[in-house]
Amino acid sequence: MNNIRNIATKTRLLPNYPNSHRLFTSSNYKCSCCATLFCHQITNTKFENKLSTPSLQMGLHNSGGVITKLYSTSSFSSSSKENNATTSKNKNDFNIEKLLANNKAWVKSRRDEDPEFFNRLGQRQTPKYLYFGCSDSRVPANEILGLGPGEVFVHRNVGNLVPVNDLNALSVLEYAVDHLGVTDIIVTGHYDCGAIRAATSRQDLGMLENWLRLVRDVYRLHKDQLDLLEDAEEKHLKLVELNVIEQCLNLYKTGVVQRKRIQTHAKSNGTEHHPRIHGMVFNPSDGILKKLSVDFRQRVGNLDHIYGLYDHKKEVRDRMNTASS
Ligand SMILES: [Zn+2]
Repeated sequence: MNNIRNIATKTRLLPNYPNSHRLFTSSNYKCSCCATLFCHQITNTKFENKLSTPSLQMGLHNSGGVITKLYSTSSFSSSSKENNATTSKNKNDFNIEKLLANNKAWVKSRRDEDPEFFNRLGQRQTPKYLYFGCSDSRVPANEILGLGPGEVFVHRNVGNLVPVNDLNALSVLEYAVDHLGVTDIIVTGHYDCGAIRAATSRQDLGMLENWLRLVRDVYRLHKDQLDLLEDAEEKHLKLVELNVIEQCLNLYKTGVVQRKRIQTHAKSNGTEHHPRIHGMVFNPSDGILKKLSVDFRQRVGNLDHIYGLYDHKKEVRDRMNTASS
């Protein structure tokens, strides 16, 4: 997180915002966890949206799998001199041509392996899984789950949070549950998470604090348990896990999830409840995913009358009455 502090510090020190493309794109200030989002938020805040993130914008050509560069940073720079300097710098930093070459190689290998692959991918997606995870570059959703393109609908943010008032996360949730019909939702945290570390340190990261405070709140909820752990690393590992569990509970609390679960339960005559919600933690040091125990009733206790938006017992009674009449 020291790197994140560097971003904030350097941004404040650079009032000449057009040059900040260089700052923004400089690998010197990349955070090891979630760098892009941190840069984007800080940059926009400090310069009142005069800067965007054009250097990172590219498009994915769905049907062919070929990445197409839409525009480059140079078109957003303030002068031709600036353009040349920035373009040259970007070539060194991002090596876009290399990425495009990688993409072509990937397309070829996929076609060689399965000539129909892109024909299928170009049609509608039907993923069974919705994944909420951290933006950390070491935790690629598809790869750690062993799933290919089209098999998992993904939402990632700093600290794998599912805030109940986050329009972005809730839109992803609703689309995945109501329109794609995912059957399982997986919240995945990871050890050595920069967001979790930042949220347990005494520092003010500006706007980021509004986001990280959600993790600080998780600590407050589990203070008794966490304070028993004297070792700082053990405390970190436990907080990573508890944060995942709290995000799972946040999902259970939503009307989208509760409504769909009661609908599928009724439709299947009580044999199914979708979507199911799972909590997992990934360890970047060995690549292992660990499943966590997430028992909503045990965690929420006797507050079903508060969090339960539907009367499940009534639904079961009604169904049984209908069946017997
Ligand atoms: Zn993380």
